[in-house]
Amino acid sequence: MNAITNHLPTAELQALDAAHHMHPFTANAELAEKGARVITRASGITLTDSEGNEILDAMAGLWCVNIGYGRDELADVAARQMRELPYYNTFFMTTHAPVIALAAKIAELAPGDLNHVFFAGSGSEANDTNIRMVRHYWAEKGKPTKSVIISRNNAYHGSSVGSGSLGGMSGMHAQGGLPIPDIHHIEQPHWWAEGGDMDPEEFGLLRAQELEKAILELGEERVAAFIAEPVQGAGGVIVPPASYWPEIQRICDKYEILLIADEVICGFGRTGNWFGCQTMGIRPDIMTIAKGLSSGYAPIGGSVVSDDVAAVIGAGEFNHGYTYSGHPVAAAVALENLRILEEEGIVDHVRDVAAPYLKEKWEALADHPLVGEAKIVGMMGSIALVPNKDSRAPFAEAGTAGFICRERCFANNLVMRHVGDRMIISPPLVITPAEIDVLISRARKALDECY
Ligand code: PLP
Repeated sequence: MNAITNHLPTAELQALDAAHHMHPFTANAELAEKGARVITRASGITLTDSEGNEILDAMAGLWCVNIGYGRDELADVAARQMRELPYYNTFFMTTHAPVIALAAKIAELAPGDLNHVFFAGSGSEANDTNIRMVRHYWAEKGKPTKSVIISRNNAYHGSSVGSGSLGGMSGMHAQGGLPIPDIHHIEQPHWWAEGGDMDPEEFGLLRAQELEKAILELGEERVAAFIAEPVQGAGGVIVPPASYWPEIQRICDKYEILLIADEVICGFGRTGNWFGCQTMGIRPDIMTIAKGLSSGYAPIGGSVVSDDVAAVIGAGEFNHGYTYSGHPVAAAVALENLRILEEEGIVDHVRDVAAPYLKEKWEALADHPLVGEAKIVGMMGSIALVPNKDSRAPFAEAGTAGFICRERCFANNLVMRHVGDRMIISPPLVITPAEIDVLISRARKALDECY
């Protein structure tokens, strides 16, 4: 039990939580009624709650615990680093070994000439960096009118004012004055929900060409960059048709638009390669990273940029940075996480073992009467719940089926998330075939209980 408060009875913890702790993306008033489930410890792919239940975490926390829970090596590295140098910054011509080693390692792993890292504390901060960086890049190149960043509806790029504006979540835009100026959204390549009778590949092409249309409408001289997740995660694990990304790359090349791949979820093995852009066959100028960079053991994110972007930005002072940019403890933990990913062949395990097995089992869920489609890339998957399998029409009251299914999963000791009526998974990459069998059988039981 945790020395801080885990010794308290569950009800007491829940009451304190409801009284004082404001949860993200939660109707906090409900906490007083229902009480949050108190997670006390975790190991491998399994969470334990304050009542002793063992829960299979098919979301790897929030898509981040890629190497699984309970790795002592990371705890040891963090403790050592805290004793040696708990904090120092890299502003004003100072640096330290953990951040140097981590930046060099990321440059080695990243594709192409993405050789330079600007660190942040999270994916949101990294995307805020990207907004300022791409605008500053074009200003430095003598094209200051190039300030519009094109993104997509239903994209998720973070929760800060800047990154929330890049994202296309209508619920977020409805609160707090988002989006900021000069962010333009185009439609997403979500064939299942929006493709109608169209062939998926034709639809993918059409949705990619929305980018070209937007560039021409806004004026090429105003557009700085296009940002997208290789596979939309928080929007519901939306796998684009194969025609989509090659056309996006063609358009970015043609109009000299910087391409930002938001790899916060897709990076570090999730799609079966080190980065999602490799799975999708694209060449970004900038990648956003976070989550799997440290497997969630420490908060850290960053922007990985090309030689060209780094040269332009680095020619003068970039007036930007965070107190925790390149935090030594987070950097040391991330470095150890990358060592484990690499030395234990975890990306190979995904590509050769876990992903093919999970794909077969996951796609077989499509035979369930409630499941309309089952999609998966690497270790991120979704199923669409539908009232009638023969039509793609959604439930009349969107989100209720997903909510109920999520509750049934939880009751069966399985964490799956729902986005509207799409159920999504993103388990730790170290999951074994036997554990995948448990995941699938609990998911099927939860689906049966919803039907
Ligand atoms: N980008 C993507 C694709 C994400 O999925 C997320 C978080 O889920 C973020 C950015 C924001 O990262 P963070 O929550 O670390 O700020």
